[in-house]
Amino acid sequence: MEMNKQNLIYLDHASTTYIRNEVYEVMKPYLTDDYGNPSSIYSIAQKSRYAIEHSREQISNVLNCRPSEIIFTSGGTESDNTSIYSTAIAQMSKGKHIITSSIEHHAILNACEFLEENFDFSVSYLPVDNQGIVDLDSLRSQLTPETTLVSIMLANNEIGTIQPINEISKIVKAYAENHNTTILIHTDAVQAPGYLNLDVKELDIDLLSLSSHKFYGPKGCGLLYIKRGTPFSPIYVGGNQERQRRAGTENVSGIVGTAKALELVESERIYYLEKTSNLRDRLISGILNTIENAKLNGHLSNRLANNAHFSFQGIEGESILLSLDLEGIAASSGSACTSASLEPSHVLKAIGLTEEVAQSSVRMTLGKNTTKEEIDLVLDILPKIIARLRSMPTLSNVL
Ligand code: PLP
Repeated sequence: MEMNKQNLIYLDHASTTYIRNEVYEVMKPYLTDDYGNPSSIYSIAQKSRYAIEHSREQISNVLNCRPSEIIFTSGGTESDNTSIYSTAIAQMSKGKHIITSSIEHHAILNACEFLEENFDFSVSYLPVDNQGIVDLDSLRSQLTPETTLVSIMLANNEIGTIQPINEISKIVKAYAENHNTTILIHTDAVQAPGYLNLDVKELDIDLLSLSSHKFYGPKGCGLLYIKRGTPFSPIYVGGNQERQRRAGTENVSGIVGTAKALELVESERIYYLEKTSNLRDRLISGILNTIENAKLNGHLSNRLANNAHFSFQGIEGESILLSLDLEGIAASSGSACTSASLEPSHVLKAIGLTEEVAQSSVRMTLGKNTTKEEIDLVLDILPKIIARLRSMPTLSNVL
């Protein structure tokens, strides 16, 4: 059986991925010999400058935008925070209303809450249906002449549901046109590379966030697409980098790695989409056929090709994860960011799961190296784990 170096069946690619060799190789020179500061004028520095601008071009080819419409950031969180703060502040005199959804990543939700608490903004958190699709009638009813930004994720990091961004964009743009105003649209596309089309013109959006460590690039790196003409107040100031939209000496190796990783994952997208969704469907039907009271969460068809998310009634998700870990299988109880907290996930609450069912959840996210043998091993081991845990006395049935 083919396993990776750690003898691990890694099913947590939505949390992070390894850096692939091709990416590591292009990054290396900028961590060693080619260390010049891209803002300086001598040759070694110009090498760094060239590397950054070449990376910007590679990325613009994937996103179908101008290179100047991309800024490099420290990852998804910064790109999301920036999208909210920079556009909200720049348009404050026009209006102080933002629309987002109740299942966004906390990098969006907490930034919105900060604006509500400290700057008197009002924010509408759109509900979703029981498969995680944003309620479009609510969107229509929440738009006001004061709305300046709508931020809806392309695909959810926990349950994998893909949002109808084009429809959302049409609704928002039609409203804006009828009211003689402009409303920006941001999408958090952090979970999308390798699975969904990232063409910003086809998506018809103004801002888009990406995070490199989700697509076999380096951690602590990401980017933000900002359509030309978008009102934007920089958050990071103190230098002229990134055309004054994000001050600070650039992470050259990270930027070069990000561009290479995005280019590769996009060029392989169609191949891996089919391979991964076939394996995911094998995993889903295998689990639903062999484990009683297993519930698949998220949308049946509009879901990321690598996402399988289940609740196993009556057992704590954490216990399942620990048992899987003992068998060399890495999975997650939710998003990496909330799994350390005991609070049930806001996403699972929003799709209507009870606290108890939400706590019994396990997310398995496949990657480009996931094999059929690995999936079959999980399908052999997981039913036994669930049966064993279900047969164990719990505090509530002992008392
Ligand atoms: N947005 C989504 C949808 C995510 O899944 C994540 C990370 O899990 C983030 C934002 C934050 O990205 P980063 O880890 O690069 O800060």
